[in-house]
Amino acid sequence: MADSLYRGRFAPSPTGPLHFGSLVTAVASYLEARSRGGTWLVRIEDLDPLRESAEATQRILASLDAHGLHSDEPVRFQSECHARYHKLIEQLRDQGLAYRCACSRKQLREHGGRHPERCREGHAEPGERPFAIRFALHDEHCQWQDQLLGPQSQQVQAELDDPVILRKEGFYAYQLAVVADDIDQRITHVVRGSDLLDMTAQQQQIYQALGGRPPHWMHIPVIVNAEGQKLSKQNHAPALDDRLAVGNLKQALTALGQDATLLSGASDIDTLLSRAAATWAPERIHLTAR
Ligand code: GLU
Repeated sequence: MADSLYRGRFAPSPTGPLHFGSLVTAVASYLEARSRGGTWLVRIEDLDPLRESAEATQRILASLDAHGLHSDEPVRFQSECHARYHKLIEQLRDQGLAYRCACSRKQLREHGGRHPERCREGHAEPGERPFAIRFALHDEHCQWQDQLLGPQSQQVQAELDDPVILRKEGFYAYQLAVVADDIDQRITHVVRGSDLLDMTAQQQQIYQALGGRPPHWMHIPVIVNAEGQKLSKQNHAPALDDRLAVGNLKQALTALGQDATLLSGASDIDTLLSRAAATWAPERIHLTAR
C-alpha cells in the first residue's frame, strides 16, 4: 500500500566499510520504505572522530551507490549538526532533564550504578573537571509494539540507566543525536538491527523530552559470524566487494528470508531491487535468527 507519509532511513556509524551485516540492514530498511511507497534516507552517524574516518564514510556511500541504494534526499552527516545538538542539550538542561556528571565508571560501579556525587540532583557541579552530560530518565515499565518482534516490554531505571548524551571527550553521543535527527528528518519508521533493541525504551523517553513522537520500530536479526558474534569491524567482518553487487543483494535477500525463486531472472541491480520491493514480505524474516 502506498504511504507517502512513510519516511525511513539507514543510519550507519562509519567505523569501517560496509559489510554484509550492514548491507542486510540497509536492504531491509530500503525495501520496507519502497514497498510502502515511502521515502528512504541515508544518514551518516559520524560522531566519534576517534573511531570513525572520512575514508570509511566515503566507502560506505560508494558501496550503497554500487548496490543501487540511493538516498531520496541529500545524505545527512551528524558531524555537521553539532550546533543543533548543543542547543537541544541546553534545552534539556533548562528543563531539568539533563545533568553534568563527572563520576567515573569505577565510582559508578562501586556505588551500584548510583551517582556518588549526586550530580543528578545538581548537588555537585564538576567545575573544571572533565564531565559528561547525561539524560535523566524516569522509572518506567515501557511497553511497545515492534513491527516484526511483536509486543515488547522494557524496564527503564532512572539514574542507573541514564545515558550519556555528551561524552567527557566533548563528542555528542549516539543516544541524543539519533533521536534528534529522526525527529528533525520526520522519520516515521525505523528498521534497524536487533542489537539496538535494548536502547528503544530509553530513546522513546528522549523523543518525548524533545517533543517528538517515537517512530514505528522494526528490529531485524543481526547477521552473525561462525562464532555467533555480530558481524562488525571489531570482529574483522570483510568489506563488501562492490563489483559483486547483484550477488551480494541476492545473499542479503536470502538472509532476510525472501523467496529467492522470485528473483532468479533478475540480473541487474535495478530490476532486482524493484522486484524485491514488489515481493517484500518482512514476515518471512526468520524468527529463529533473532
Ligand atoms: N548508527 C547506529 C549504528 O550504526 C544505528 C542507529 C540506528 O539505526 O538507530 O549502529
